[in-house]
Amino acid sequence: MKKFEDWYREIVESKDEILGYPSGVCFCGKEGYHLECQGRILKVKEDRNYIESLPSSLGYSVLKDQTDREFIDAEKIIFEKLNVDASYENYSRDKVLEGAIAYYFPICWIGSSGHLVIKNTHEVVSFGSYIGKSEHIWAYHYGISIASLGKDRKNDFTICKINDEENTIKVLNSFLDAKTLISEIVPRLNNLPLTLNDVDLYFGIQDLLKTKYENWFQYKIS
Ligand SMILES: [Zn+2]
Repeated sequence: MKKFEDWYREIVESKDEILGYPSGVCFCGKEGYHLECQGRILKVKEDRNYIESLPSSLGYSVLKDQTDREFIDAEKIIFEKLNVDASYENYSRDKVLEGAIAYYFPICWIGSSGHLVIKNTHEVVSFGSYIGKSEHIWAYHYGISIASLGKDRKNDFTICKINDEENTIKVLNSFLDAKTLISEIVPRLNNLPLTLNDVDLYFGIQDLLKTKYENWFQYKIS
């Protein structure tokens, strides 16, 4: 039992922002250390590691050259747009990420998990805070509209193949209203592919990402 407690303390009572539970409180919210909760803890960690690895799997890494002209220009653009400067809170060039097509600037506040500056166009893409930077970067690269106003967020969403109907419906319910889903969409799920036009996928990002690695169903976004 000692061993399990050691494991538990290390995993759950770490400085981890998600699993950082106080001493003696289990991940399930009850007192103690429960073997039966171990599986759920590991799953949450595994999901989170996967999410955190998304920027690097999309080619993002720490800035190689902080004096690079292209970067300096992008930084100037984001500072002007947000009306901040290099002294803004915890801003540091060491925390900027660079990808092939964009820089990620960790200029965050309540309601924003940062911003991309697109290299070619100098467009600024601001992230919300309902999900973290990694999910936003994935969504942007996957073509999911993440505009700040719902009316500006529109995608065509095609369901290609279903492997797990129950979870598919749950995922669809994260961005479609339940009434439309049950009366109009579910009856058409046995006749694929099915394309839904002008959908706001923003609140489905987390579930769509999960669908990618759980393989509940296959989809295309345009
Ligand atoms: Zn527990």
